[in-house]
Amino acid sequence: MNVLVINCGSSSLKFQLINAESEEVLAKGLCERIGIDGRLTYQPEGGEKEKSDKPMPTHTEAIQYVIEALTNPETGVVKSLDEIGAVGHRMVHGGEKFSSSVVITDEVKKAVAECNDLAPLHNPANLIGVEACEKLMPNTPMVGVFDTAFHQTMPEKAYMYGLPYEYYEKYKVRRYGFHGTSHSFVSKRAAEVMGRPYEDLKTIVCHLGNGSSVTAVMNGKSVDTSMGLTPLEGVVMGTRSGSIDPAIMEFIAQKENLDIEGVMNVLNKKSGVYGLSGGLSSDFRDLTDAMNAGDKKAKIAMDVFSYSVAKYIGAYAAAMNGVDCIAFTAGIGENDDYVREQVCSYLGYLGVDFDKEVNDGLRGTEKELTKPGSKVRVFVIPTNEELAIARETLALVK
Ligand code: ADP
Repeated sequence: MNVLVINCGSSSLKFQLINAESEEVLAKGLCERIGIDGRLTYQPEGGEKEKSDKPMPTHTEAIQYVIEALTNPETGVVKSLDEIGAVGHRMVHGGEKFSSSVVITDEVKKAVAECNDLAPLHNPANLIGVEACEKLMPNTPMVGVFDTAFHQTMPEKAYMYGLPYEYYEKYKVRRYGFHGTSHSFVSKRAAEVMGRPYEDLKTIVCHLGNGSSVTAVMNGKSVDTSMGLTPLEGVVMGTRSGSIDPAIMEFIAQKENLDIEGVMNVLNKKSGVYGLSGGLSSDFRDLTDAMNAGDKKAKIAMDVFSYSVAKYIGAYAAAMNGVDCIAFTAGIGENDDYVREQVCSYLGYLGVDFDKEVNDGLRGTEKELTKPGSKVRVFVIPTNEELAIARETLALVK
């Protein structure tokens, strides 16, 4: 069955058409600037990437162009819509309502909308994507795969904040965690690579990308994760501060004459390695170049980032009373050898015997980074959220 995987943002929409049995990607692409003007990028497997300007006043037109591209007699990969068996939607926030993927019904849409407060930028956009697909493919089953679902197994002691209990009762203020699809995919793959049962392993997954999170996976379940109510908490990120002393917010508000919105803007968009590097860049490739050219702030940014990841690993080794395996994934985790080496330089005490030679220059390939006999094994495991969504979708509609 071919599954169309959709990741819908407020003005963009990424898609992949995947043969869910052979796990082959048939085509992929991106709609950008929806609601502004509109641009479609489309690439069939083995073919050229095409870019074209298309008017996309709403997501419905965007999906319409995606379908046209996929069924185009020359560059398309299917003859008609009948060859798309299901659509899998990436959904960001499922609150406490969704602990696994679900076939989308009117009730599900209502429940997702009830979580809008928790992810005001993402959830409404995800729902718009669902509705646009429903309009154009009314008879195709749709599945929602939630970023938060994998973390619903966290125990209370991990998800409750030290805040008045009534905020949890009244508003569901608690840790939810994100990147769950990736943490689940990578931890499962780590077990396969190690040849050990998933249910018997203690794994720490470091998903390090534009947004970064670290998760403790014990016996196949997420037991703690660094992102919280929102994706702002946890390790230092591209432009997000990660965890800070909450009193800094009032302090900065007074000094810089900012309201709460202004402070949140600083914490979300002007902090992290971008802020630390003096506004140089949030991209680790730029920071690495600058650091190698002697830029002190770029080096500080890279080192603060790596140190913050290492501290979460230490915390989660304690939370699980041990760790068998640590996996690096996503843009930075898969590609940045300096960050991986820095992080692992703090982990000798755990029993990580790091192989610098293997790590140096390694990009985007699955590989073990520890020497034979290392007590704790470290891997690079490329994530593939689209494939994970296609697998979930197939399993639910079959
Ligand atoms: P997201 O999916 O959250 O947008 P990604 O997982 O694609 O993010 O990660 C993007 C980040 O990965 C970039 O901002 C950059 O910092 C980093 N990255 C990508 N390629 C490399 C590379 N070759 N070396 C170092 N960092 C890289």
